[in-house]
Amino acid sequence: MFARIVPMSKRDYYEILGISKDAKKEEIKKAYRKLVKKHHPDVNKEQGADEKFKEIQEAYEVLSDESKRKAYDQYGHAGTEGFNPGSGFNGYSTYGGAPFDMGDIFNSFFGGDMGGFGFDFGQRQSSRANLGEDLRYRIKMSFMEAMKGGEYEVKIKRNVRCEKCKGSGSETGERKTCSVCNGSGRERRVQNSFLGQIAVMTNCSKCGGSGTIPEKLCSKCDGIGVESSTENVKIRVPKGAYDGMILRFREGGNAGVSGGTFGDLYIEIEVEPSNRFDRRGNDLYSIESIPVHTAVLGGNIQVQTIEGDVKLKIPKGTQSGTVFRIKGEGAPVLGKENSKGDLYIRIDVKIPDKLSRKEKELWEELSNM
Ligand SMILES: [Zn+2]
Ligand SMILES: [Zn+2]
Repeated sequence: MFARIVPMSKRDYYEILGISKDAKKEEIKKAYRKLVKKHHPDVNKEQGADEKFKEIQEAYEVLSDESKRKAYDQYGHAGTEGFNPGSGFNGYSTYGGAPFDMGDIFNSFFGGDMGGFGFDFGQRQSSRANLGEDLRYRIKMSFMEAMKGGEYEVKIKRNVRCEKCKGSGSETGERKTCSVCNGSGRERRVQNSFLGQIAVMTNCSKCGGSGTIPEKLCSKCDGIGVESSTENVKIRVPKGAYDGMILRFREGGNAGVSGGTFGDLYIEIEVEPSNRFDRRGNDLYSIESIPVHTAVLGGNIQVQTIEGDVKLKIPKGTQSGTVFRIKGEGAPVLGKENSKGDLYIRIDVKIPDKLSRKEKELWEELSNM
């Protein structure tokens, strides 16, 4: 498995539905209905119509749900990424700061099956039907750990292919054509919706969309082809990982039924703030206190970086609030080996508040000069 940052180049959900950011629930619903009528793949045969339709579905999924919408408003797609219809969400019930109520995710008003939303998406349907769910987990680390990156072990509970039947669900390893759908994996059903009665294609109720059924049910998995497993997975966190970063591990999620494809595993990284460094992009900011005599006369001080202490030369006459930049001592740049941002140090001149008799005399002497 290979860690990478999930690209976030999706279209804005409000833009997709053509509504404003402060649209009321009713407006969202109205806009959605209008778009569904226009782009429903049963009606619209244009190329790309089903893609468009899926995009609309997804936008509505998020914006019609208060908690998901809140997360989206706050974090953008990062707050909902990988949050697909039909995906499992084992692990944490909150993501991106807002709780997600998983209870109603399947309550699309078209009803229908989990994976396919009751619509015929053409060729991809058969592979979609057997796609395992994505999984999301979160790991927490200190600021310094995030700077250094490294390997982490995460305990993950997921479905894997049944060992006995190798995922086929069949005792003999062989599968035969489904008698209900004759191998197409799809079934036509009439459903009630706000559009009236519509005929929709759903995944076959017998084979779940795969088009085939086990010749003889596997005794270990009852023909499903998957079994639950708890695994300690080693994941690599890149140097310079930031709070809220999402790592995606392809095929690290649940195995699909009947030997289907694995879903993906998403790991969100939670970084505890540092009490020394402030991070802005790849640059780090810290404050160093120096004694007043160093500020006046100049000198060398030790400053802390993420790699250890370095020497910083303080010129004479340095004012409190002066900022020095140490090049290349900031946070590691993601994806760029040996490249780092800069470290900015703001000088805080410490005025002594307790003086010995001798010191007091000397200060008085200075003040009389
Ligand atoms: Zn089995
Ligand atoms: Zn079937």
